[in-house]
Amino acid sequence: MWYPLLDWVKVRNGIEPMCPGSIFSTDGRLLRRRARTHRIAITSLLSLLLPVAFPVHAWHSLLGLQEPVTRVDWGYAADRGPEHWGDLAPEYAACKGERQSPVDLSGGQRVRYSPLSFRYRSSPLSIVDNGSVIRVETPPGSYMSVGGHRYQLEGFHFHVPGEHRIGGVAPDMELHLEHRDQQGRIAIVAVFMRVGRRMNSILSRIWDHLLGMQGSRFYGRQTGINPRFLLPGDQSYYAYVGSLTEPPCTEGVEWFVLAKPVEIDRSYVHRFLRAVGPNARPIQPLNGRAVLASLRR
Ligand SMILES: [Zn+2]
Repeated sequence: MWYPLLDWVKVRNGIEPMCPGSIFSTDGRLLRRRARTHRIAITSLLSLLLPVAFPVHAWHSLLGLQEPVTRVDWGYAADRGPEHWGDLAPEYAACKGERQSPVDLSGGQRVRYSPLSFRYRSSPLSIVDNGSVIRVETPPGSYMSVGGHRYQLEGFHFHVPGEHRIGGVAPDMELHLEHRDQQGRIAIVAVFMRVGRRMNSILSRIWDHLLGMQGSRFYGRQTGINPRFLLPGDQSYYAYVGSLTEPPCTEGVEWFVLAKPVEIDRSYVHRFLRAVGPNARPIQPLNGRAVLASLRR
């Protein structure tokens, strides 16, 4: 497996690329399985009545409807909690792997700063709540790149408290921006969020729907969002190879954890905990993996 971003950083800094782990499955698209409900039946009927094919989700988009989603079979507590994920289903076996995320990034090896470039576009708000993670889906056309290699943004989601740590300290909240390149390789950019007094218009638009989600899908054609406004000004980062932090815990994920936090108002954390509850996986051992620190200064 080749890791374009990490290898580019390492080659540029004269570091031997590490031997990466293997990918067990492409990703955790459990969210795509939708529950069959009367609402889907109605919209499907509407589609049939039209002379041209018109996807069901497009109707929801037009109507701003919520649609139930199949809830995932894992969680963050008791017998469905993180310590049991690897045994809940054969496809979650990677959760018991040796190259898992999140990790503590302390002691990252300092390398020359190699900037990440973000080209994010605005899009209508599309949210899916599977009961453990609320995910914002983004349409094609937004990219993150470094060293000329491009990854497309596919969506983003949040964890409270944050998952990665620096010196044992986790942020109050953590944003995960999910990307994939043309070969299917996953790169996630993590943004630390610390409680302060700063309101954020993008978070506010998403949070307006959090409490009402409860295992559903929401399309808001009139509500535009651009995740560019969730990034800090200083985009120094830590980089390492790990995994998805939720089942199926797919390994071979390139992580870029931004070092500088974004300040957010305390109310976002409280509202998230009321709507979703805590959803952070415990820290995982590095098992000899290198962490690079690509800091502006
Ligand atoms: Zn995540």
